[in-house]
Amino acid sequence: MARYTGPVCRLCRAEQKKLMLKGDRCKSDKCAINRKRPAPGKDPKARAGKRSDYGVQLREKQKLKRIYGMQEKQFGLFFERALRMTGITGENLFVLLERRLDNVVYRLRFASSRSQARQVVLHGHITVNGKRVNVPSYLVKAEDEIAIGETSKGLVIVKDALKEFGKSGVMPWLQLDPDAMKGKFLVSPRRSDITDLGDIKEQMIVELYSK
Ligand code: SF4
Repeated sequence: MARYTGPVCRLCRAEQKKLMLKGDRCKSDKCAINRKRPAPGKDPKARAGKRSDYGVQLREKQKLKRIYGMQEKQFGLFFERALRMTGITGENLFVLLERRLDNVVYRLRFASSRSQARQVVLHGHITVNGKRVNVPSYLVKAEDEIAIGETSKGLVIVKDALKEFGKSGVMPWLQLDPDAMKGKFLVSPRRSDITDLGDIKEQMIVELYSK
């Protein structure tokens, strides 16, 4: 399935939820959800009222998939991997998603959104433990050092992102040295640590894939 390239705020409006697809800019007053712009198409409340269990589960999956900017097939593969891990599948899924390199690059403030972080990774600007990695879905592990490559340190988008968002700090499982343009993934977060994605009900996603 092709990657969605339309206006991303429309996706949030469809879900009537902030999916934070434009990064920290989503916290501003310009956000369509903050401005209470209605969902495209039909009244979302009317639609929600008619939704079956399947429809509700599907929406939860779509929300999570869109937040992390993933395509259907790859999201399914992440779910399968979460299923094979010990522990609670829904929580495992969150941890795996957080370990994606593009997500870590975004969380370290090297990009202003996950989609921009994906581009930064794809274009070879990121190193993991000193080696260039250009695979957005690469899974970072505890103690890995993630850095902007030596020849990429002049990149304006990275500098701007660090300048604009670096001062607001990073999540507690990360460590950032903004001057050196490098950071560390200290430890995998627990589900309860991931507090900025709203009320995603991961159990519904598990139920959806269990059908
Ligand atoms: Fe747009 Fe971000 Fe607001 Fe979503 S959360 S509507 S992507 S500004």
